[in-house]
Amino acid sequence: MTDDHVQLTDEQWRERLTPEQYAVMRGKGTERAFTGAYWDTKEPGVYRCAACRAELFRSDTKYDSGSGWPSFTEPVRPDAVRYESDTAYGMRRTEALCARCDAHLGHVFDDGPAPGGQRYCMNSVSLELQPSSD
Ligand code: FE
Repeated sequence: MTDDHVQLTDEQWRERLTPEQYAVMRGKGTERAFTGAYWDTKEPGVYRCAACRAELFRSDTKYDSGSGWPSFTEPVRPDAVRYESDTAYGMRRTEALCARCDAHLGHVFDDGPAPGGQRYCMNSVSLELQPSSD
């Protein structure tokens, strides 16, 4: 948990987020593949949490995983994302959450590119790209 941890009530999250954001970020849903805003985005910038604006990923770690979801090799800082074991739907997966506000972001898999081998499979709706100014 970070020092600036954001904790709101369910009602406050419903007011702050769109229904689509709420379903994914608080309800741990998943947007349909190839439908989100960022799965094919190559624009340079920083991806922030759509709920609390914390920096989560840099565009230079984004790669085309072919999955239909925006995919990254690592977070902007190790402590930007926290992890929970997710055994829903009969699968054993690692859930990735925003460390600042506990929003569900997506899952992490170990079939990513070398050298790290990690694939941060994120929902576009949980992210907000802040394009580089230069
Ligand atoms: Fe957040």
